[in-house]
Amino acid sequence: MPKIACLGLGNMGLPMAINLLKAGHLVVGYDVAPAARDAARAAGITLAPDAATAVAGADVVLTMLPNGNLVLDLYISGILTAAPPGCLFIDSSTIDVASARAAHDLAQKAGQTSLDAPVSGGVGGASAGTLTFMVGGDQAAFARAEPILAAMGKKIVHCGHNGAGQAAKICNNMILGISMIAVSEAFVLAEKLGLSAQSLFDVASTSSGQCWSLTTYCPVPGPVPASPANNGYQPGFAAALMLKDLALSQDAAEANHAHTPLGHHAAEIYRQFVEAGGGNQDFSAIIKVLRM
Ligand code: NAD
Repeated sequence: MPKIACLGLGNMGLPMAINLLKAGHLVVGYDVAPAARDAARAAGITLAPDAATAVAGADVVLTMLPNGNLVLDLYISGILTAAPPGCLFIDSSTIDVASARAAHDLAQKAGQTSLDAPVSGGVGGASAGTLTFMVGGDQAAFARAEPILAAMGKKIVHCGHNGAGQAAKICNNMILGISMIAVSEAFVLAEKLGLSAQSLFDVASTSSGQCWSLTTYCPVPGPVPASPANNGYQPGFAAALMLKDLALSQDAAEANHAHTPLGHHAAEIYRQFVEAGGGNQDFSAIIKVLRM
């Protein structure tokens, strides 16, 4: 079984490392945060004293970090040379496309193989091993990664060249951010019109308004019992993370001259919510902004 170094053992990285361990891989982890290291140790993950030690002798390095600057800082910190030549570097963090491509360039200049492989499915999917991986990089690297990613996910899509995984991730989440606001607006209007939430749901969920934000993640309590609205809007997928992804989509749109007026507006609405203190609530709590 390959040795896998897992760098970043937070909300997502730890359950992913645990699933690699359960699949029989030799896993060595590292996180800069003492609390994350304690949680990983308690979960049975072997820890290295630093990132360079973790990647020594590794066949695969999996990073799961908060942002692109941290990924690039880690790549230039020496881990690309501390790992054996030909090591496969998989970055599953959600980061901007430009940083993802820069990370590929750094890895390849150091003689390493690399993929960007962000995920959707959240902490629940990470724990259950049912994540969706969106992968960018060459076919040979993808083929090498597939059995490893299969221990953590149920759907693995090769999206194309370097950065294509991150491109797919931000495009998908731009749809999600916009569609959640659209669904929330409809429920707010229904309230004003005296139409019950259940009636709107019964019609729209089987009509042309049907979408994931409505049928799986309904932003009002009642129609979808498992949605965060029934649980005080506990995340789920936090509004702060939605804002991060919408901001990444807008940076990419600006840099590539794509016209995304609704993505822009959705980012502004989420920014308002996060600045008002809503960042730790589920992103479906955006309906509260619309009721103000
Ligand atoms: P998190 O903040 O819980 O975990 C990130 C971890 O990285 C932290 O424990 C931090 O200490 C560690 N870290 C930072 N710099 C490091 C370094 N140089 N070396 C080692 N460890 C380092 O974040 P998360 O929720 O696990 O998210 C990780 C990534 O996954 C983010 O890019 C996020 O956007 C993405 N993501 C999150 C979710 C979700 O629902 N949480 C869903 C999909 C994608």
